[in-house]
Amino acid sequence: MADTFDTTPACAARLDAEDALAHIRDDFIIPVTPMGDEEVYLAGNSLGLQPRAVRNYVESELDKWGRLGVKGHTEPDRTPTFPWQAYEESLTDQMATLVGALPAEVVVMNGLTVNLHLLMATFYRPTQSRFKVLIEEHAFPSDHFVVASQVRHHGRSAEEAMVTASPRPGEDLLRTDDLLETITKHGDELALVLLPGVHYYTGQVLPLAELVEAAHRVGAMVGFDLAHAVGNIPLGLHDDGADFAAWCTYKYLNSGPGATAGCFVNQRHLGRNDLNRFEGWWGTDKTTRFQMETVFEPIPTVEAWQLSNPPVLSMAPIRASLDVFETVGGMGPLREKSEKQIAYLDHLLDQMLAGRVELITPRPLMERGCQFSLRVLAEGHAGRRVLEALEAEGVTCDWRHPDVIRVAPVPLYNSFTDIYRFAKAMDGILS
Ligand SMILES: *Cc1c(COP(=O)(O)O)cnc(C)c1O
Repeated sequence: MADTFDTTPACAARLDAEDALAHIRDDFIIPVTPMGDEEVYLAGNSLGLQPRAVRNYVESELDKWGRLGVKGHTEPDRTPTFPWQAYEESLTDQMATLVGALPAEVVVMNGLTVNLHLLMATFYRPTQSRFKVLIEEHAFPSDHFVVASQVRHHGRSAEEAMVTASPRPGEDLLRTDDLLETITKHGDELALVLLPGVHYYTGQVLPLAELVEAAHRVGAMVGFDLAHAVGNIPLGLHDDGADFAAWCTYKYLNSGPGATAGCFVNQRHLGRNDLNRFEGWWGTDKTTRFQMETVFEPIPTVEAWQLSNPPVLSMAPIRASLDVFETVGGMGPLREKSEKQIAYLDHLLDQMLAGRVELITPRPLMERGCQFSLRVLAEGHAGRRVLEALEAEGVTCDWRHPDVIRVAPVPLYNSFTDIYRFAKAMDGILS
């Protein structure tokens, strides 16, 4: 049944009252304005808010360090605290569920950009004839730098080896048909396709399974950057068939600034001896690791890609965050709420801001997550200044050069009233 919305605050209050997940907001710390009011925080696409349980998880590791010192590596301590030497395992099952993968395919390690490099060390093995990498022209700069430097590392120039896909002139979004055609066109020369799951600038969702199929058909590997997808939209990495993927955990996964990143390698590549891999002691067989032998025996899971022992203090918040996702029943219920919030903000934009703000994010639900990328059209209002005016009213969004305001109602902690207050503030500022 379609929801009926209107532009009154009473409508927002009714939607909040009907929202079965509304109470989860209480599990997060909402920043307050200098006046002491709760902010309308719509920047979870950039840095997710802190789950209240984070402090306990971090404190219990600090406490353990204080009490046990080096013995903390092996002491399970009180359950469910893992011994530090197996700490990464404490995150695997829940993280695998979130991205739709088998536990053997998922590990939490390093930073996102680091993981992209490590995965390219394995999955970008250019030959004389097959050496090109497809990315999109407006890729997040870090992803662009990764690919350009990897290409140079293999003795190629960016000009010859990087294929960039872009929207058509005058358009903001990538067309699936154009991407598929580019893949086909470079066919035999294409070594790797590296694309986002959700685009950081436009919020566009790409059709992962279709892209995998097209890439594999021409014999290319395919990897995804899921920075803006994980915790935002339901994912099925295993079934979609991607060769690898990586994501950060500080955006929709609410695990804190610079938190440890996630990594996926498809089951079909696990346990293979013919793969090149940058190796460290954390990737070798756990039963012989501490015998300090110098023969590398890869762990038969993606953990073989690990280099260093896990940064426990920056992983502890991830446990708190993953618990919140599990408590709400995972991405199914969250996406259901998110779709309602998306429809509601669409309605408010249409009714209150038509002609003054342009949505560049795709309209169809299949092609978007919770991020709205908005361009200010209203005469005499520079987008950047609008953002500052929102800030002054206690509304936090973010700005992406050259001209987009990103607004992300996050179903875990944003209310329908937050969405209403954002639209109302925009209306006031642009009048
Ligand atoms: C946020 C983001 C990054 C950030 O990389 P880090 O290594 O975590 O600093 C990289 N790529 C994309 C697409 C992102 O959205």
